[in-house]
Amino acid sequence: YLEICERAFCASEDESISAVSNALREILRGEREQFSMEYPCNSPQEERWFILRITLCDGEGHTRAVVAHENITERKKAENALARADEELRRAKQALETANAELWTALAREQQSARTDELTGASNRRHFFDVASALADVARRYGQPLSLILFDLDHFKLINDRFGHQAGDAALRHVARIAAGEVRAADLFARYGGEEFVALLPETGAEEAADLAERIRVAIERQALEWGTQRVPLTVSIGVAAMTNTDGTLEELIRNADKAMYAAKAAGRNR
Ligand code: GH3
Ligand code: MG
Ligand code: MG
Repeated sequence: YLEICERAFCASEDESISAVSNALREILRGEREQFSMEYPCNSPQEERWFILRITLCDGEGHTRAVVAHENITERKKAENALARADEELRRAKQALETANAELWTALAREQQSARTDELTGASNRRHFFDVASALADVARRYGQPLSLILFDLDHFKLINDRFGHQAGDAALRHVARIAAGEVRAADLFARYGGEEFVALLPETGAEEAADLAERIRVAIERQALEWGTQRVPLTVSIGVAAMTNTDGTLEELIRNADKAMYAAKAAGRNR
């Protein structure tokens, strides 16, 4: 058997053959008890696998070893098929996880855009009402102050007429950015309508709200829109309302702020 191994190794230089002959020698020298190795041995017609086992077979003063080759093609094929199925499953799982992550990202983006005004990036009217009514409920229940600021661009139609609709859009973005920079993180700032914006201010009384309104008014007055080579001065008229009793409603707050805003318009705007 060793000679056959030797010849086979010389012909093929296959390391596994020398591993077998080495193991056999070790066993015959009593240095190890057994050895086994699985190996492919394809015929021209089919893929085949064998297992080789060498076992020490001591007795009668001689050291002998039994070398057995067993065809394990069926088991090997089953194992390989299982490994392939496992790999396919792993890939399918990975694809599913990727698709899932993409879906969540898309959903988050969708939700974000569903509550954002496309032109200005402020919250939209729908999101404002979704959140504002909850904030009003909380304020009423715990008797906390709550205020609301409503403002409208002055003579906005003139800006559209003189500088064009795109300049009007830029003015809306400009004003929204300035106002968003003035409100606090806890405030709910939204585009209420065409050129009207609203900010709901939790835990804020009338005086504080009026101060914020004035800061917004001044900030807008000071930063004209740069439109090409032109400067487009912008002003807003602002109404402020505060919830004063424990059963005030959001609708009442908006109505009062609206009245105040029209009073500001009537009194000459930019106030
Ligand atoms: P006032 O000082 O009384 O508020 O005058 P005003 O001209 O601003 O008031 P009015 O409500 O008559 O005009 C509002 C204009 O805002 C009319 C409309 O075309 C314009 N507008 C509304 N939404 C948009 C928008 O998204 N983009 C632009 N460019 N214009 C808009
Ligand atoms: Mg208006
Ligand atoms: Mg206006």
